[in-house]
Amino acid sequence: MNSFDILKDEEKLISEKQIKELRRVVKGNILTNQPMREYTSLRVGGPADVIVFPEDTDDVTRTIKFLNGERLPYFILGNGTNLLVRDGGIRTVVISLSDGFRHIVKVGGGQSELLFAEAFAPLVSLIRLSIDCGLSGLEFAAGIPGTVGGGLVMNAGGSLGELKDVTLLMTILNRTGGISVKRREDSDFSYRNLRLASGSIILSAIFRLKPGNKSHISERVQAILGRRKETQPLDLPNAGSIFKNPKGVPAGKLIDEAGLKGMRIGGAKVSERHGNFILNLGNATASDVLGLMKEIRDSVYRETGLVLEPEVKIIGEE
Ligand SMILES: Cc1cc2nc3c(=O)[nH]c(=O)nc-3n(C[C@H](O)[C@H](O)[C@H](O)COP(=O)(O)OP(=O)(O)OC[C@H]3O[C@@H](n4cnc5c(N)ncnc54)[C@H](O)[C@@H]3O)c2cc1C
Repeated sequence: MNSFDILKDEEKLISEKQIKELRRVVKGNILTNQPMREYTSLRVGGPADVIVFPEDTDDVTRTIKFLNGERLPYFILGNGTNLLVRDGGIRTVVISLSDGFRHIVKVGGGQSELLFAEAFAPLVSLIRLSIDCGLSGLEFAAGIPGTVGGGLVMNAGGSLGELKDVTLLMTILNRTGGISVKRREDSDFSYRNLRLASGSIILSAIFRLKPGNKSHISERVQAILGRRKETQPLDLPNAGSIFKNPKGVPAGKLIDEAGLKGMRIGGAKVSERHGNFILNLGNATASDVLGLMKEIRDSVYRETGLVLEPEVKIIGEE
């Protein structure tokens, strides 16, 4: 029996009555008691009390209006590739756009350089479309396993580029159900972050690319994927880079120089191939991963005086 099983109903944030009401209001699926390890690439984390899967914009609008009316907090789940969910799971209502919101299309006619994508479209699909359309600019994102929404919120990327570089505008649903269009120039993107008003949900975005040669774009994508295979441990569950790079120094280099590669707590291990990746060897818990993160942070601070900040979003209950 885990900590969730012994929670009584009154200790949950959302009541059975509210779940029933939510089922009446929302067209999409609603699942309860879902193990978050099945929704995250790191494969750790306790259960989410409720996950709502709205089917379209009206449905997600109804969902958040209901939750706001009931004063229930919510969390937006993308593909779960930058998330560390604690072992106690999630009491706030989780909203997943995975049952819709995957449409991608080139906007306008032959000469257009614009691609439209809904929030749950995988970045990999967007890259594939950009190659098919002979549009260059998204190659840097090859191998990033997130969605358009998660990618924008994280301003995903690396040394070759970030999503903000190719973003023209985003359509955003706010906490009270209003929809607005935000241009890149009016958005607060920074290193691995986009500042959004609390409760905002990205519904879709338009990206502006540049005309290019299809086979050259495809070759660049393949080269980046090849490099990832060489340098990153992609065979075991992980969440990509665990820490942000402080002041332009790669966190992986600091972790390597602190002699931490291969270090293990429970089922979690610092990758031998890339110091900034923590791997789940199969039976890791979130507290194993968090314990390892603390060891890394403390050691790197002792050695260098630099404080590593998590890149991965840590959510849920102890
Ligand atoms: C093997 C591997 C390699 C990786 N390589 C890279 C890399 O090179 N560069 C890089 O930047 N990242 C990398 N990552 C991390 C991760 O893939 C990115 O951060 C990605 O953008 C996260 O997208 P996601 O859909 O999985 O979002 P999630 O992890 O599900 O969520 C991330 C954040 O976005 C929010 N969010 C998600 N969708 C929405 C939405 N529609 N509206 C509002 N908020 C939303 C969530 O609430 C959360 O705060 C890697 C991860 C793995 C596992």
